[in-house]
Order: sequence, then structure tokens, then C-alpha cells
Amino acid sequence: MDLHYTSTRNSDVKVSASQAILTGLAPDGGLFVPEFIPTLDVSMSELKDMSYQETAYAVMKQFLTDFTEEELNQCIEKAYDSKFDTEEIAPLVKVDDTYYLELFHGSTIAFKDMALSILPHLLTTSAKKNNVEKEIVILTATSGDTGKAAMAGFADVEGTRIIVFFPKGGVSKVQKLQMVTQKGSNVDVVAIHGNFDNAQSGVKAMFEDKKLAEELAAKGYQFSSANSINIGRLVPQVVYYIYACAKLLKYGEIQEGEKINVVVPTGNFGNILAAFYAKQMGAPIDRLVCASNKNKVLFDFFQTGTYDKNREFMLTSSPSMDILISSNLERLIYLIAGEDTDKTKMFMEELKTDGRYTVTPEMKEKLADFAAGYADEEQTAESIKKTYDKTGYVMDTHTAVASHVCDVYREENADNKKYVIASTASPYKFVHSVMAALGEHEETEDELELLPKLQDVSGTEMPNAIKEILDAKVLHTTECDADKMEDTVRAILGI
Ligand SMILES: *Cc1c(COP(=O)(O)O)cnc(C)c1O
Repeated sequence: MDLHYTSTRNSDVKVSASQAILTGLAPDGGLFVPEFIPTLDVSMSELKDMSYQETAYAVMKQFLTDFTEEELNQCIEKAYDSKFDTEEIAPLVKVDDTYYLELFHGSTIAFKDMALSILPHLLTTSAKKNNVEKEIVILTATSGDTGKAAMAGFADVEGTRIIVFFPKGGVSKVQKLQMVTQKGSNVDVVAIHGNFDNAQSGVKAMFEDKKLAEELAAKGYQFSSANSINIGRLVPQVVYYIYACAKLLKYGEIQEGEKINVVVPTGNFGNILAAFYAKQMGAPIDRLVCASNKNKVLFDFFQTGTYDKNREFMLTSSPSMDILISSNLERLIYLIAGEDTDKTKMFMEELKTDGRYTVTPEMKEKLADFAAGYADEEQTAESIKKTYDKTGYVMDTHTAVASHVCDVYREENADNKKYVIASTASPYKFVHSVMAALGEHEETEDELELLPKLQDVSGTEMPNAIKEILDAKVLHTTECDADKMEDTVRAILGI
């Protein structure tokens, strides 16, 4: 059966998966959502013996019904290959009595590789299927990890250009180096004077600008998005939750029918929404625990039913979660609104004009699958130290936010299910904060000098992604004000 995609803000929209991937954002500013969430047509006991690639096919074919078996398998093979430093692609590591689903074994050592290594292939396949001959221009706002992962994914992919915007002071030194040293003739990266939300709003405004779209078309360009609002980002993320459940079953850590809880360090709400989709597909998941840092807008939302971005924006040691507008939440709002697009649109308009909205009591009741917690800076650091002292396992700051929230949730709810924590970055990527948490460095010490020290402390080898940037040349130095992003794009494309 064919699965179509509609917009969260207009039920008249009906497009194929490949069209949704190509367009990124629906024309009305809404997000593409499947008309229904498909269920798995294979059992967990069949899944337990599948490789990551086979699992990816079993899951993704249910969502991307207009891709042929050959097309989808080619995308999967090109994405999940030796770019990953482990054959398992997403290994599940048991630490004490908690399972860490390590999503950081790809080319940029953070979880966005899971989706961004396949998105360029889904996108170019979609373009071919829809006879698109224009050059696809990817515009991306990043709080650090997406940018590099997108650049690495798209670099020198024929028929594409990529322009990435990041907040100048809002990313780690390693993240910045990773981006400004990226090779590829179709790649640009721009530091903006502003925060991530400024970058994201600027990109969204360009996508919604019809006049700009016409000008681009006349020059042979078409915008698309690699941000987590693209359905081509979300669908590949559903895979690893199902893979994790299947592996737990395979290794006898859970029994057939036994449910687990997942804890996800959350920013834009893409990763945890994928876990929710996995649950809807039939994965044995009970609670979805949303973990925030001090920017706890989501925690407050789950507590009160009010989403309110009117608050101080804080820079933390988990910068990829320093977000006040979690774009992907719109897809959850749509679901709990009973797929009512007018209602969803109303809430999103309120968010735009007032910076806040409150869902109805009936909608709030439908959030029962979710729990939420947060960690402040001290708790995040303590979590890293505590786990290291007890087990020798070193985790990054984002994962540590989830680890703290997991401990608190487990204790407060006396819920003895097995817990899988989405481990979203390698500790090498946030070495400064990680080593500070372990009490292993002086404030003044250069982040790059800490890398070999982390190697000694953790007993893990420095990933290639890190070794490579240490003596790479800086290739990108463009900066701009937050309100000059469109001018910058015009200058880059020569329009
Ligand atoms: C992007 C990111 C997150 C947040 O994921 P969302 O899908 O935006 O909620 C968490 N940790 C790391 C390391 C990330 O890069």
C-alpha cells in the first residue's frame, strides 16, 4: 500500500515520500507527516538476527513506499558502510545496569550521522524519481553537530550545494574546526552573530519566501532542507530504536513481549520523536523519557501543557540541546490534536506571535507515553564523573544529561524496566567539558591538548574524525549578522 505524506498545517496536502524528502518543508510552513504511522511487517524475533542494514530496509520500506527495493537498498548500502568504525553501526553497550545505544560511530562522531549519511542519497534518488533537474541547495542551521554531519554527507554529491549557518559563540572548538575545515567544492559554512534559534528562524524564513524561490528557480536552483524537519532525517532514526530492541532480545537481556524505556537527550525533538514512531510501529517500548539541559522548555511543556519559549536562552556544556524552539514537536502536537491541522496551525501561529501556546487537557492526556526531566550543569558533570568512577565508561555531556534524568526517573517512579539511553556523541567531541567533569584539566588548557589525555583516561582510541582535523587547513571564514543571512546566500550562489 502507498503511504502518502500530508502537512501538519493543511490536510489538503498529499505527496509521495520522495516529494516530501525533496521539498523538506510543506508549502504552508507545516511539516510533512505520514498519513498514518505504518506497522512493522516482520516480528521482533525475525528482526533480532538482522544486520543494521537489513533492519534499516525493513523499517524504512514501510515509510518510503515509492522507493523501489533496489533504490532503497542502494541508499542504505552507500550510507551505512565503512564510514562507521564498527560493523554494528549502532552498538548497544551495557554499563552497570543501563544500556547505552551508541549513535556516534559515523564520520562526525555524533548521532546526526545516523540520518545524514543516508539523506543525500535519499534526496538525489528522490530528485531522479521526480525528474528534478535543478541543482538542490541545502540550507541548514546548526547548533554544532548537524552542520558538520550534513557537510560530510553532501560534500561533492553531484547535483547538490550545501550552505550551513552556525552560531559563532555557540559551538565547541572541535565542532567549529570540524566545520571550517570541511572539503568539497559544493560546501559553504557561515558563522552568524546570534544564537541557534536566530539561525533556524533565518533558514525557515528563506524557505517560506516565495519570491526568493522564484528567483532561485530562474537560476536553476531549488532549496531543500537537511534539518531534522526533513522527513528523510526522521525515518532513518526510527531504525536504531527497533534495532536496539531486537538486539536486547537476541542477547537475552529482555524476553519476547517485555517492554523497555528509552531516555533521549533532546533538543529539536527529532530523535525522541523517532523513538515514538518506533513504538507506534510495534517496537516494545513503554515510556519515552525526554531529557533536557537547563533550556528546559520541553520539561516544562510535559509538566504543564504550556510550551513557552519566552525565557532566557542559556549556553550549556551540551550545546546541541541549547534550543528554545523544538521544531519537531509540531509533529507530536499534530498527533495529539487528533491530526487536526487547523488546531496544529493555530498553536504554531500562537508560538510565532506570542512565543507560547497551551494544549487542551484532552491533548495533554495523550502525552502519557512521555516522561520528562532535566539536568543542570552540575548534575551533568556529576553524572559523567559518577559513571566513570564506578565503571570506567566515559560519556559525553549530552548523553550525561540523559543519564542523570534516567537515574532520577528510575528512582522516583520505581520503574524497573530496562533502560536504553540514546548516546548521542563521542566524549572526544566535547572533550573540554568531559575532562573538566572528570577533574582532569585546568581551565586555561587548550581543548586540542586534552584529546590525548582523554585517550589515556578512557582507554578508548581517538576516533579518526578527530585525528583528521588536528592538522587540517581552515577553508571557511565567512561571518554575517543574523539578519543578513539571505544576502549571504545570494552572494554565495551569485544571484
Ligand atoms: C542534535 C543532538 C541532540 C538533540 O537531538 P534532537 O533530535 O535535536 O532532539 C542531542 N545530542 C547531540 C550530540 C546532538 O547532536
